[in-house]
Amino acid sequence: MTLPVEPDTTALAPLPSPHPAEALVLNCMDHRLIGAVGDYLAACGLAGRYDQISLAGGAIGVMSDRTAPWAATFWAHVRLARELHGVSRLIVIDHRDCGACKAFVAGDCADERGRERAIHIRAMEALAEEVRAREPGLAVELLLMDLDGSVERLDG
Ligand SMILES: [Zn+2]
Repeated sequence: MTLPVEPDTTALAPLPSPHPAEALVLNCMDHRLIGAVGDYLAACGLAGRYDQISLAGGAIGVMSDRTAPWAATFWAHVRLARELHGVSRLIVIDHRDCGACKAFVAGDCADERGRERAIHIRAMEALAEEVRAREPGLAVELLLMDLDGSVERLDG
């Protein structure tokens, strides 16, 4: 069976979802923080109320020229999450000491915390700007998680 590279979501009717979700979460695939991401979202009252897509690097994985094919997959998921589940928020959770950041941006990106933070802010703000252009009305939250699971908001 051959599937189209980009799913045709234009045929989906904009009906109220029978099983709505509050948010779509984008996070890195890194196994060290999967549990912490779930714990954080549960603490925010979102347990069982979010869709999730995990890509190496999170926002960096979407925005890097080195991983361009991933962007189409991500944007298709954003559209589907809105149409199927009516999500109103995109929660982006990048993290410190990210191997994808080292691979796709700078090998020493995690050596200095201020620079690391700036690299993630750049990628996440670029992603947020693209959300505003592609998906008007979708709120965006930008978070940077440390390896201990603590979270810093970067969107204001
Ligand atoms: Zn990572």
